[in-house]
Formats: sequence, C-alpha cells, structure tokens
Amino acid sequence: MAGLAVITEACMDVKDRACVDVCPVQCIYEFDPAQNLLVAEDEAGSGEIENTHTPNPDAIVLFGDSLLYVNLDECTSCTACYQPDVCPVGAIYPEETLPDGDTRTEYNKEDPNKGNDHSFFLQLSRDVFAD
Ligand code: SF4
Ligand code: SF4
Repeated sequence: MAGLAVITEACMDVKDRACVDVCPVQCIYEFDPAQNLLVAEDEAGSGEIENTHTPNPDAIVLFGDSLLYVNLDECTSCTACYQPDVCPVGAIYPEETLPDGDTRTEYNKEDPNKGNDHSFFLQLSRDVFAD
C-alpha cells in the first residue's frame, strides 16, 4: 500500500510520542523491555494498551526501546503521522520517499540526519514484529 509510515533514526532518544497521538489505528509501537512486548497505547502516556505484539529477538536487540516502530501490516497510510507539524525531528517518512543517502533526496525539514541512508529502517520495521 502506498504511503506506509516508516520511523527512522532521528526518533532515537527523542521519543516524544507525538506520532502516537495522531495515529487513528494505534499501529505505532514502543518496546517494553520489562514485559518483552511491543505495545501501542490508545493515547501516549495513558497506560491504556490498545495493541501488542511479540518482538523478534534478533531484530529488537538492535535499537530496543530507543525508538518507536510502525507495524506496516496495520498502517493504513492515512498520512497523519508524517505531516510536517507532528514529529519534532522529522523522523517519519512515507515508504516511497524514504531517503536512501542520495543528496538529491528530499528530506523532512527537521530531519537532522540529512544525507544518511534511512532505507535500513523499512526492513527493520518489518523485522521487529515476530507475529
Ligand atoms: S500513516 Fe496513519 S495509520 Fe500509518 S502509522 Fe501514520 S498515523 Fe498511523
Ligand atoms: S513524533 Fe517523531 S520523535 Fe516523536 S516518537 Fe514519533 S517518530 Fe519519534
């Protein structure tokens, strides 16, 4: 489906969860190491868990709870989370415009990682969900 959302490295250690609050289908997950579970809250910080998934240990070990993950099977490509006024660091891209390191690629305005290849995070988004 066109327009699937991918979260990239700019989210690392920022994680303000602004994207969680605008997602209408609760498909943006955070890894909870204590429960070894990927959890999606109804509203960020509410403690009300809407969806959960089991993490793939081989993939979740790479970034753990340092960033959030979109479940691409659940994302409806609604576009809400990658509007320019949502993510403070421009970490979220539609799959089709995910920067691949080419200097001619358009970056989200606030992305501090301009020039980097973000395509790794598309596969990571698929790999972290074991179920
Ligand atoms: S594009 Fe829409 S459905 Fe997909 S993660 Fe973003 S807010 Fe959620
Ligand atoms: S809005 Fe951006 S920085 Fe905040 S949690 Fe979502 S992807 Fe991470």
